[in-house]
Amino acid sequence: MTKKTTKPKAKKVKPKHFSFSQTSLDRMKGVDQRLIDIAHKALSISAVDFGIPQYGGIRTGKEQGWLYSEGKTKLDGLVKRSKHQDGLALDVFAYVNGKASWKEEHLTAVADAFKESAKAMDIKIEWGGDWQNFVDMPHFEIVDKDIGGDPSSIVLAGIPLKRG
Ligand SMILES: [Zn+2]
Repeated sequence: MTKKTTKPKAKKVKPKHFSFSQTSLDRMKGVDQRLIDIAHKALSISAVDFGIPQYGGIRTGKEQGWLYSEGKTKLDGLVKRSKHQDGLALDVFAYVNGKASWKEEHLTAVADAFKESAKAMDIKIEWGGDWQNFVDMPHFEIVDKDIGGDPSSIVLAGIPLKRG
């Protein structure tokens, strides 16, 4: 059955009408609503499709510790907490030609959509691909306080300084 779709006004990149799989939606549960909203808006304007990997949303300390022991993160979840533990971070993978992709060009396109969306919604985020000490291209996080663009603050970005 064919259905007429009404397209929103095309911007510089034609919307491709990507939508999240139920799995990706489930993986975002518990994440800060602002970040979920940004992800939805980003998907609607992104030139490249993307989804949420396992452990890409909120993590327990135990899960963070396990990822640390597997060498998948620099934050052990105990001494160095991850923003994923507070639901303030979200990881993505690009989805290109029917396959997951972590290629720089694809993740950069996704990041452009995230940044544009966050800006439009007046929410401050950081993309791990902009970090210099350790580049984490699939990673986005909410920045509640302006900790500045100093690369030395990167480790701090993973640790809640003070949270009530
Ligand atoms: Zn992450």
